[in-house]
Amino acid sequence: MTRSLTILGATGSIGRSTADVVLAHQGEFHVEAVVGGRDAVALAGVARRLGAKFAALADENGGETLREALSGTGIGSGAGPSAVLEAAEREADIVMAAISGTAGLAPTHAALKPGRRIALANKESLVSAGAAFMADARRLGVEVMPVDSEHNALDHALAAGLSRDVEKAVITASGGPFRSWTRDAIARASAKEASAHPVWSMGSKINIDSATLMNKGLELIEAHHLFDLEEGRLDVLVHPEAIVHGLVQWSDGAVTAGIALPDMKVPIANALRHQGRLRMDLPRLDLAAIGRLSFERPDEERFPCLSLAKAALRAGGAMPTILNAANEIAVEFYMAGHIRFYDISEIVERVCSTFSGRRISAPATVADALGIDQEARQVTRQLIPTYAEATRL
Ligand code: NAD
Ligand code: MG
Repeated sequence: MTRSLTILGATGSIGRSTADVVLAHQGEFHVEAVVGGRDAVALAGVARRLGAKFAALADENGGETLREALSGTGIGSGAGPSAVLEAAEREADIVMAAISGTAGLAPTHAALKPGRRIALANKESLVSAGAAFMADARRLGVEVMPVDSEHNALDHALAAGLSRDVEKAVITASGGPFRSWTRDAIARASAKEASAHPVWSMGSKINIDSATLMNKGLELIEAHHLFDLEEGRLDVLVHPEAIVHGLVQWSDGAVTAGIALPDMKVPIANALRHQGRLRMDLPRLDLAAIGRLSFERPDEERFPCLSLAKAALRAGGAMPTILNAANEIAVEFYMAGHIRFYDISEIVERVCSTFSGRRISAPATVADALGIDQEARQVTRQLIPTYAEATRL
C-alpha cells in the first residue's frame, strides 16, 4: 500500500533530501503536493520529478511562471499564502514540514489533520508556538515525528525506557565554523564565513544559527515541547564529529545514545518509516575508521545566543516566541551585511529584555503566537539602524 506525502519546503535542503528518499522508494509513496517559497522553476522541477498532484508557491508573483513550467503535465498549481495553506491541508498520510523559519508555522499548523503524521523539520514552529502547536496535535491525534537529527536520535533513545526515569537528555552540537576561533576573530566574521558549516550542508538561516549556536538553543526549546522535559533536564554537548546526535541518561546511570553518520537522509527516512525501517543505500558508520570521538562543553561566552535561548526557555511565557522573532530579523540583517556577528546576540538580548517586564503568557493559540511574533519583529527592526550605522563607521 502506498502512502501519500506532501512536502512543505520541497526546494530546500531538507526538501531535496526528502525527494531523494522518496525517489529511492518508488512505489511506497505517492506525492500529493509540494510547496516552495520563491523559485517557481525549481518547484516545477521537483513537482515533475516526484509526479506531485499539486504545487504551491508562496510568492504570488511567481504563479504565472509556475503554471507555464508545469503546462502539459496535469499538475495543478497555485501561488500565494492561500495556495500554500491549500497544499498543506490536502489529503495526505504524511506531511514533511521543511519550510525554513517562522514562515513555516501557519502552513505546518494547517497541516495538523486527524490521524496524520507530521515529519517536523521546521523547529521554529515549536519555538514560536510550541505549547499551542503540541496541544492541537494531541487533540487531533497527529503524530509529530522529529526530523531534526538530535531530536530524531532522542526519540530513538527515549524508546528504551520510561519518561519518568529520564534524568537528563543531551543534544550535541558540531560547534559550527567558529568552534576554535577567538572571540575577537568571531566578532569580525562575515556572513560568508559564518555560512561555511564544517559538517552539514543546510539552508542559509540555519547555517547562521549554527555559527551563533542559537540553533542549539532553539533545539533545546524544541526538545522541551517534543518530549515534555524542562530546562533543568536538558543539556548541550559540543561534539565536532557529529556522530552521536542525542543521549538519554537514565535514573540508574545507564545512557542510551542515538548514533549515525551525519546525513539528514537518515532521520528523514526514519520519520517516513512505516511497519519497519526504510532500506537506505548510504555509507555505513565505521567507528574504527573514525577512531576517536571528542566532546567538550559549549562556551557560552563566545556563543551568547545559547545562554539567551536557555534563559528564554527558563523564563517561559512568550519569551521563546520573542527570542525567535528577534533572532530571525537579526540574522536576516547579518546575512545582508548590515550588522556584525555579535550584534545578533546583543539585539536578541535587548528585544527580550524590552518585553521581559510585561510577562506575556505563553501563546494559547498559533494566531496569538503570530501576533506576538509580529510585535517582536517590529521592536527588533527599530533597533537595527543603530547597529547598522555602527557597522558602516
Ligand atoms: P532551506 O532554506 O534550504 O529551505 C527552505 C524551504 O522553505 C525552501 O523550499 C523555500 O523555498 C521554502 N520557503 C521559504 N519561505 C517560504 C514561505 N514563506 N512559504 C513557503 N515556503 C517557503 O532550509 P532547510 O535547511 O531545508 O531547513 C528547513 C527547516 O528544517 C528549518 O526550519 C531548519 O531549521 C530545519 N532543519 C534543517 C536541517 C538541515 O540539515 N538543513 C537540519 C535540521 C533542521
Ligand atoms: Mg539539528
